[in-house]
Amino acid sequence: MVYQRCARCVMDNASDPTIEFDERGYCNYCNNAVAYRNKKYFPDGIDRLRAIVEQIKVDSKENEFDCTIGISGGLDSSYVLYLGAKMGLRMLAVHIDDGLDTGVAKRNIAGLCDAAHAEIQYIHPDKEQYADLLLSFFKAGLSGVALPQDNILIRALRECTNEYGIKYLLSGSNFALEAILEHSAGVSAKDKRHIKAIHNQFGSKPIDKLNLESIVGFYMSRLFSPVKTILPLNYIDYNKDRAFQELADFCGFEYYGGKHHENVLTRFMQGYYLPVKFGMDKRKSHLSSLVISGQLSREDALAELEKPTYESPELQNADMNLLAEYFGMTRQEFDRILEVPAKQHSDYRMSVLEKIEPCTRMFKIRKG
Ligand SMILES: [Zn+2]
Repeated sequence: MVYQRCARCVMDNASDPTIEFDERGYCNYCNNAVAYRNKKYFPDGIDRLRAIVEQIKVDSKENEFDCTIGISGGLDSSYVLYLGAKMGLRMLAVHIDDGLDTGVAKRNIAGLCDAAHAEIQYIHPDKEQYADLLLSFFKAGLSGVALPQDNILIRALRECTNEYGIKYLLSGSNFALEAILEHSAGVSAKDKRHIKAIHNQFGSKPIDKLNLESIVGFYMSRLFSPVKTILPLNYIDYNKDRAFQELADFCGFEYYGGKHHENVLTRFMQGYYLPVKFGMDKRKSHLSSLVISGQLSREDALAELEKPTYESPELQNADMNLLAEYFGMTRQEFDRILEVPAKQHSDYRMSVLEKIEPCTRMFKIRKG
């Protein structure tokens, strides 16, 4: 296959056989993003957002909370929480503390929730079982090693909204910074059947203490207790640099490196695991989104891609040592696991209901 890079954004065919280019040399990702931009993104829609927030308050006046937000410590969900605070929402933040948050992320989450007067619920998955499940994804040679974390958050959000009778979920998903998401693993984060199939084959401990979400459970719950998902960032002129600055002024929010670098697992995944094992550089889609939303020139995006995927070799080494220790093994043992042949998620059993979830993309669920 001849190497080709999009003439408008910075997506290419290096790791993505599904990418297509038109006669101008533009790819299907940015063509789609441009085609849907006016339907999904309303940078001057602040009045619409205010009206939505007022409705949320009316609908929730009998409740303790107006809405739930899953927060990762990353920019997008943090900024949603900040926006909610500015608009006077009573928010319940939910965070999965898997023991792999960076120090910066921990400080950011605590400082932000405090300043926003948001209640925070930390979910602590059973350490031993969670580590065993995570490790089974590495042993299976799969790219979606963040899938268990996503799954557990989806379940936790569902339970929290149900428990408090909350009617609205605010999400950090957005067009401006995520207009382009590379087709990745092609598996739903809600697919408990898939997660259990991987673990049955490669795990060594029970995972009965982990509260996992299933596709059926998720949709049945939505059927009987409808929760509306709002994407506030699509109603404002959402700019990455400005958002960081505002958060810094609001609560001393610190910059943590690249997108999804707030957690050691996702930082390792994006900085080393995906590029080295699968030839995937997620920065291409993050940077392409910024190009399409006019926040970065294509030239600057290309220059950014020339930089190493990890901030420094020392940090990479430290993260790998930390993960090895997390899995209760030596660094050499972990390195050997990383060398197992790469596989597709479709090589393992999946739920037949995957078909009703054609648009679900990993990396999009929680992180903000
Ligand atoms: Zn493109």
